[in-house]
Amino acid sequence: MNAQTHDIVIVGAGIAGLYALIRAQKQGLKAIVLERGSDIGGTWYWNRYPGARCDVESFDYSYSFDDELQQEWTWTEKYASQPEILAYIHHVADKYHLRDGVRLRTNVTAASWDEQNLLWTIATEENEHFVAPIVIMATGVLSTPKIPDFPGLDEFSGEVVNSAHWPERGVDFSDKRVAVIGTGSTGIQIIPEVAKDAAHVYAFQRTPSFSLPAQNRPLSVEDNQAVKRSYREFRERARNSMLGAWTDTHDTSALEVTAEEREAEFQRLYDYGSPMRFASAFNDLLTSEQANQTAREFVSSRIRERVADPNLAERLIPTGYGLATRRLCIDTGYYETFNRENVTLVDMREEKLEQITARGIRTSAREIELDVIVFATGFDAVTGTLTRMQITGTSGTLSEKWGHSPDSWLGVMVHGFPNMFVVTGPGSPSVSSNMFLSIEQHVEFISDLIADSRAKGYARIEPTAEAEQEWVAHSREVSDGTLMKDATSWYTGTNVPGKPRAVLQYLGGVDVYGAKLNHIQEEGYPGLERAAMREGAAA
Ligand code: FAD
Ligand code: NAP
Repeated sequence: MNAQTHDIVIVGAGIAGLYALIRAQKQGLKAIVLERGSDIGGTWYWNRYPGARCDVESFDYSYSFDDELQQEWTWTEKYASQPEILAYIHHVADKYHLRDGVRLRTNVTAASWDEQNLLWTIATEENEHFVAPIVIMATGVLSTPKIPDFPGLDEFSGEVVNSAHWPERGVDFSDKRVAVIGTGSTGIQIIPEVAKDAAHVYAFQRTPSFSLPAQNRPLSVEDNQAVKRSYREFRERARNSMLGAWTDTHDTSALEVTAEEREAEFQRLYDYGSPMRFASAFNDLLTSEQANQTAREFVSSRIRERVADPNLAERLIPTGYGLATRRLCIDTGYYETFNRENVTLVDMREEKLEQITARGIRTSAREIELDVIVFATGFDAVTGTLTRMQITGTSGTLSEKWGHSPDSWLGVMVHGFPNMFVVTGPGSPSVSSNMFLSIEQHVEFISDLIADSRAKGYARIEPTAEAEQEWVAHSREVSDGTLMKDATSWYTGTNVPGKPRAVLQYLGGVDVYGAKLNHIQEEGYPGLERAAMREGAAA
């Protein structure tokens, strides 16, 4: 085996992998990033569908580690579009000379731990091998699309596209009959855009989502300057917030205020347009069914105002789960799109998708002729990308371990997998936060730990089984106190058949979590076992 040797192998060239590379290079380590895509950018490279845009505000959804970078970049919209975020990531790659450290079109299929020599061997689909004492899995939480096994898919004579593998050439929808399957955040962004060009759009909805108007707007030079003048405090507030982005909300129960006060507060935040702010309007929306009901009623009334046909409005309003227990979406004209003559809702609760045929889709009620089918059917989230690789640790594979329960130490390391770090893994705030901030927090914790271990002569780092279980128990206790644990969605792994049910993110808050990481660092990393290289090991 002709293996290439590095100090660190990083898998994934999204926001996380690129920052891990920056940190490794600063420490003078020989690092390489392996990326299966044909360019950098991760999420923002793959998900280039029409309407793709951020749901965290631009100033928050950006790197904070270098003031020069944040001063020189100007955001043009409150919620940046996919092309703008991708352009930003490319700017970062150029500024810090990262491209030479990234190997594109390189799909990691396996990683195995050599306990004798304390080395990981990483194997790729292209039949290459990379060896390093440390591996950082920056493989993303929403990077493995879920493609349902609809019967007859291969028979379809038109074009089939997946939102998460959108063709770089784009897709021409003009005068086409299009089905969009899925009405999560992605479907909600795609449907209004496609409806502008298509002859007809059939929106296949199985579970309606709650969505708020994004109230997106252009950002002026003055808007940018105001934040640039106060970026230090701005970032500080974000780090000390529950969601990794400051929310202008109150620490009050929705049930302690009058109905008028509650309505006014919901309206104020609705008009602002931010899922994070709306979901934290009151401190018990995610813990009290009754409080959550008040928010549901408010948003349901707004949906009724946005949809002309009252029957159709009722079918678009979610029932049976709490607001924000599944992803609370934001949209630009989503509900209004159903007022167009060329848009039809196909309610899959009443009308089953029976078969994809050569000409379109046959439901239990009719045959729909189509030219294009768009899948916006979500992801095997948080754990799915890692469990698809053959990652073999000290006593078995990660897919075996996480097949039972997605246990980890703080979402950063996994017992049984020494020297393997995960960025925003299960059990970290990850997808319940501004991911950019959580990614920075993780990468900094990981690179500081690596530097500290190297300085002290430790070659092997592993969380103890006890420390891992302690974190898992704490994380579960927190989520058990919320309404989220009962939701059926990718947040709990229940969108993928056979996946164990577990709230995949830590819900205690970015602020609490960050304080925990800082404490662990200050205390010399309790919970980790660190050891020096054994005698006789390969140098
Ligand atoms: P990714 O960007 O997913 O990058 C991981 C990379 O690893 C990918 O390029 C992938 O190809 C590569 N990879 C994976 N497995 C392998 C392998 N085996 N071999 C080689 N390479 C591999 N978060 C927010 O906070 N706010 C938002 O508004 C928001 N919007 C989103 C919109 C969409 C459409 C999606 C899908 C996600 C969104 N997210 C959002 C979450 C988003 O994934 C994160 O914010 C962030 O981009 C993740 O960065 P990352 O580097 O951790 O992972
Ligand atoms: P998602 O929220 O999981 O939505 C997938 C949709 O596909 C759901 O409506 C789901 O219905 C449907 N679906 C899946 N399998 C199906 C089947 N077999 N038959 C019929 N319908 C099926 O996935 P997503 O929309 O891609 O979003 C995932 C996450 O990515 C978001 O929650 C968010 O974190 C992120 N994202 C963010 C933005 C943004 O605004 N910035 C945009 C896109 C994505 P069921 O619910 O009934 O399963």
